[in-house]
Amino acid sequence: MKILKKFEFFKFAHLTLAIIPVLGLTASVCSIAADFSNQNGDNRYIKNMLYVDTHLKLKEGDFIKVNLYNFNEEETKLVKEAIKEIDSLSSKLNYVFSDESNIQTKRILNIRNNREFDNPTIVGRAVFNYNQVTGDIEFPLNIYLRKGLINGFYEKDPSIKLLSYAVKHEVMHTLGFNDLRTDRWLGKSIMYYNADIASDYEVTGITEQDKNDIINCYGGLAGGKDVIYQEEMEEKN
Ligand SMILES: [Zn+2]
Repeated sequence: MKILKKFEFFKFAHLTLAIIPVLGLTASVCSIAADFSNQNGDNRYIKNMLYVDTHLKLKEGDFIKVNLYNFNEEETKLVKEAIKEIDSLSSKLNYVFSDESNIQTKRILNIRNNREFDNPTIVGRAVFNYNQVTGDIEFPLNIYLRKGLINGFYEKDPSIKLLSYAVKHEVMHTLGFNDLRTDRWLGKSIMYYNADIASDYEVTGITEQDKNDIINCYGGLAGGKDVIYQEEMEEKN
């Protein structure tokens, strides 16, 4: 099966539902600002209107609760594995799954499967707000995935499953990482994405560069992730 080629995500301003009709404009202005900041496709981080890098504000022991919608058993397994790979890099990135944990938190990541997109080549979207002053990314985080990704794989390396790839790529957006659109990043980051290339391009899993950048941004394991995780679980249960 041929790999789908484009990944997209939306950037929204800090909005409230009550004023949506007015906010189409605000949202698109923000979107343009963010796109402008990345017009050369080289900025590692999504930037807000003040050109501040966006990040999730997390401290040790914080959890992000993941709700999965419309995934079958096989898909659920792959999605969880993909997220755990990111989780394993930093003691500040602690994802728990709502079907495995009853921890109560406002830090929510919703991942919805079987979506249809206007553009048939889009496989996933990450949607979230970020603060236009501080750059803090705000919860809830939302990821939408095209249906059928479980059957897609990268033809040059069938070990790279399209579903895993899309989940990691979109989750990295929710950590503040940008699409990288210059060929300097080809094969070097899972965030590489060039909408202008019609032919196939290099797809990777999470690379060493990605891992280092996540660790630089969120901290590494700081010698005790499992302990922190376990204590917190016991406390909350
Ligand atoms: Zn993307």
